[in-house]
Amino acid sequence: MKLLKVDYTKEINELLKKLFPIPRSITGEGTRKTLKILQGLVPELNIVEYPSGENVYDWVIPPEWEIKEAWIKNSKGEVILDYKNNPLHVVFYSQPVHKILSFSELQKHLYYLPNLKEAIPYRTFYYTQNWGFCLSYNHLKKYFREDENYEVFIDATFKKGSLSIGEVLIKGKSKKEYLISTYICHPNLANDNLSGIITTVFIARELLKHQKRLNYSYRIIFVPETIGAISYCAHNEKEMKNIDMGLVITTCGGPGKFGYKMSFDEKDEINQMVEDVFADLGINDFIKYPFSLAGSDERQYSSQAFRINCITITKDKYYEYPYYHTSLDDLNFVRAEFINQSLNLYLHLILNYLDKNIFYEATKKHCEVFLSKYDLYPKLGGAFLPESRLKRHEIALYLMFYCDGNTSLYNISKKLKINLQDIYEIAVELENKGLLLRKEEK
Ligand code: ZN
Repeated sequence: MKLLKVDYTKEINELLKKLFPIPRSITGEGTRKTLKILQGLVPELNIVEYPSGENVYDWVIPPEWEIKEAWIKNSKGEVILDYKNNPLHVVFYSQPVHKILSFSELQKHLYYLPNLKEAIPYRTFYYTQNWGFCLSYNHLKKYFREDENYEVFIDATFKKGSLSIGEVLIKGKSKKEYLISTYICHPNLANDNLSGIITTVFIARELLKHQKRLNYSYRIIFVPETIGAISYCAHNEKEMKNIDMGLVITTCGGPGKFGYKMSFDEKDEINQMVEDVFADLGINDFIKYPFSLAGSDERQYSSQAFRINCITITKDKYYEYPYYHTSLDDLNFVRAEFINQSLNLYLHLILNYLDKNIFYEATKKHCEVFLSKYDLYPKLGGAFLPESRLKRHEIALYLMFYCDGNTSLYNISKKLKINLQDIYEIAVELENKGLLLRKEEK
């Protein structure tokens, strides 16, 4: 088997450092700045804006939230918590506020984690009107007292603007598309989901490099989670309804075990392909997460109108690692090498499985073909494929036996216990001899 191996560890490291400090949210400058940096790596990436206030299915695109300043002062007028030190200190989409409060009143607006004392939690108020501050439990114990009053200030504005998404369509021989999606709305967190953004941008760059040999087309999108994915579906409904399979790329850069989240139809072949990918790369102790609605944008893409089977390969999956949605999900937790490993898994899945999973139809269906006529009958006993008891010409006969336009090459490869890449080569040979025809649709 030919394994493409890429090593972009150095570039990934640089990109991690560049993108980590940008305070991204579901809308706004942080997200735009991130997309512009990604455009530097993939100039084909289009940035598209959807206006605030627009209805997208059951939702409304929110206004842009801008924050200039946010702090808490003690009764001596000393700043004891400042947004400038870490954007996670403010609950994203907080309403503006400026008042003096007792500790017990203030406490209702403070978020901290007594079980993870040094971590600042990440919280949002996207769809509720409220305000709040996040801080570590240690910070709380050191600077706040129950018998003191505090001045709080959040200088935030909500303005009519737009929601930004990034999109690149990489066209292969067939118009049939796969979806590759990641989310760009998390600030200052590394595994969730800077790891996903970086993996996706390198996938895009690599597929563009291989574009001439791609069988299928790839729709690669960078969207704010939930509202961005919903907006994208609403704006591209027809195209999205024609997609059967997708990858939702998130949390793939931590030190923990590899895993994958199954698609909604757990029998769909994309799930078995992921397991084959792990096996090919010698990863045997991966974690298998069943499909659940508690997840990311597969919720939207797999909803009834679209029913796209999406998988996610993870290395420290969201919800599962202790630092999830906290300031400890940082550049000490995530490593460029881990992201590079996930990138290799995804590229192997895409280039050697998804892209080679063709639906063929035999052109001669009445009895078997006369192999010698097509120079397919071996003159010298026939070559064995290394991992199969079947000879090449026998595999050719099986292909013409099974290829009915509805049975995938992957399905046939499983029936014959031969890997997809070998069977694909023989199928292409038969196609060149006019014995198999590609079917665009299943
Ligand atoms: Zn998250």
